[in-house]
Amino acid sequence: AGLDRDVEDLVRRRKATFGASSVLFYEQPLHVVKAEGCYIHTADGRSYLDLYNNVPSVGHCHPRVVAAVSAQLGLFNTHSRYLYDNIHDYAEQLLATFPAGLSNIVFTCTGSESNDFALRLARLASGGDGFVVTRTAYHGNTTAVTDVSPSSAVSGRLAPHVRIVEAPGTAAYGDDIAGGFAAAVTAAIADLKHKGIGFAGLLVDTIFSSDGVFADPAGFLAPAVAAAQAAGGLFIADEVQPGFGRTGGGMWGFARHGVTPDVVTMGKPMGNGYPLAGVVTRPDLLRHLCDEYGYFNTFGASPAAAAAGLAVLAVLRDEGLIDHAAEVGGHLKQRLAALRGTVPGIGEVRGAGLYLGLDIVDRDDGATPDGAGASRVINALKRDGVLIGAAGPYGHTLKIRPPLCLTLDDADRFVDILTRIGTQG
Ligand code: PMP
Repeated sequence: AGLDRDVEDLVRRRKATFGASSVLFYEQPLHVVKAEGCYIHTADGRSYLDLYNNVPSVGHCHPRVVAAVSAQLGLFNTHSRYLYDNIHDYAEQLLATFPAGLSNIVFTCTGSESNDFALRLARLASGGDGFVVTRTAYHGNTTAVTDVSPSSAVSGRLAPHVRIVEAPGTAAYGDDIAGGFAAAVTAAIADLKHKGIGFAGLLVDTIFSSDGVFADPAGFLAPAVAAAQAAGGLFIADEVQPGFGRTGGGMWGFARHGVTPDVVTMGKPMGNGYPLAGVVTRPDLLRHLCDEYGYFNTFGASPAAAAAGLAVLAVLRDEGLIDHAAEVGGHLKQRLAALRGTVPGIGEVRGAGLYLGLDIVDRDDGATPDGAGASRVINALKRDGVLIGAAGPYGHTLKIRPPLCLTLDDADRFVDILTRIGTQG
């Protein structure tokens, strides 16, 4: 298909300068000129319902976030070695959402930096080097974090200090997900130790987004976390995807499982698009790292970033977005579940709040993962004005994570369009 002249020109300039690192969505990438709420507008005058964006989490260009950041940028913005008020209001408000022992925060700019920091905390605390992660996990892009992100291993090669366990779904563990997952983690730790590699920690995204979204049964993480901590490692909860209310039951994905992490990492939705990320942990763990290395992050929670973070928390609270995510997500999940058996190729729906995964499967047997089918659906949805992505080891799980302000009408519109186009594309 020929590209629009305008899009073609931008793609050419991007490829010329970004080279091999140019990554874009869709055969016809979107040329975005404006966005608000759950909608993105493009240069050709079209509008798209954005179901794929958990970065502008309280809504694209939310006026309160825009106003707060603009005002702060006009007042002063600097690196983080001065005293300024808003960062303390922010740190206190954010830490109040965590279990009691998790009382210190380190600010960074990306989820990758946060996970990198978490790996160092775990190595120092345990004296070990080995990590256990899930098969299709992604945790970021630094050298150390790439090692624990099997989905980034294009070559399929795995670092010697990393062990993989299957994602906690029925496909791997049948009806006993909690027990099966814990047994797999325990076996992975034993294998590390057998090879003379000390165990440093279990690192999981608590909604398992790139593994294909696994949320149920709530509590399934608890035995694996207990096993990891009993083996002398830390439990690191990567909340970059589920955090900040997305899963509907509270602020954090780990809470759904009734566990208390040793380290929590966060990013993406934290500043609604303004770079803001962080690591929450216990004071003793942080002390250990700072005694050893110290830590400084130039842009970490700059005044403008802190303004963004405070505005996000205020909007979450004032607009009741966590309950809203539970309500709209619950409705959407129910409607999608009803498509199974009526629309050929639509499989299981999983997830919590406004983080849902919908499997696209073989139209005849209703079970075999169909990554090509998911790709067709994604492109067909785009033609009809809906943006969505895919995840999972076979790329067959549609990943639904819109801004939290998605309305019931938007949700219904999506399901109606999906029902009409089906999985043939
Ligand atoms: N953890 C998870 C679960 C993620 O999905 C991502 C980004 N996709 C990261 C960490 C890395 O965050 P960043 O891109 O901000 O470095």
